[in-house]
Amino acid sequence: MPAEPSPGFSGGIPLRSAGSNQRSAAARRPRASAPSAVEVRRSARRSRTVSAYREGDRTIVLIPARMSEAEEQRWVSVMLDKLAAQESKRVIGDSELAERAGRLSAQYFEGRARPASVRWVTNQNTRWGSCTPAEGSIRLSHRLQGMPEYVVDYVLVHELAHLLVPGHGPDFWRLLETYPRTERARGYLEGVVAAERLPHLPGAREE
Ligand SMILES: [Zn+2]
Repeated sequence: MPAEPSPGFSGGIPLRSAGSNQRSAAARRPRASAPSAVEVRRSARRSRTVSAYREGDRTIVLIPARMSEAEEQRWVSVMLDKLAAQESKRVIGDSELAERAGRLSAQYFEGRARPASVRWVTNQNTRWGSCTPAEGSIRLSHRLQGMPEYVVDYVLVHELAHLLVPGHGPDFWRLLETYPRTERARGYLEGVVAAERLPHLPGAREE
């Protein structure tokens, strides 16, 4: 099963320990009316970690009570960046994936590639995508989750093209030329493979 989208970053980031024991209690002062809708909560119990999460349209940042104003500002901006980065890697579900495949087929293949199913799989570690033309099924490796959209789209376009042309002959690659970021996406995936020393990527053999 693909992972569900995570609700927000909540892992602790260790701070450099400041040794001194707790200037404690005085420090509970929620900043209620910040215009940015960021609420900083200081906790005397929290001594080394900062964490943050979304609560409705607000962002809650939890920090140690003893933290200075300057540190607070720095950590709030670090945590906002982290949350934003994580949310941009939101995982799309199977139904959204199928919708995207439909849109890509319409855009690049005049709707001629019509998959019966498009879904994420976690048991596919040596291929980014695979396609069974007889069934019209397309499977994408969960390892693509979190990669840029144009890369996921490339793998979808690639597998959609296999519904029209099996194998990787000149006809196949001619079809792929219509997707403007084929080369860039292949380069991205090659980079990932090189970095991970994994053996395969689309194009090297039948997928
Ligand atoms: Zn292929």
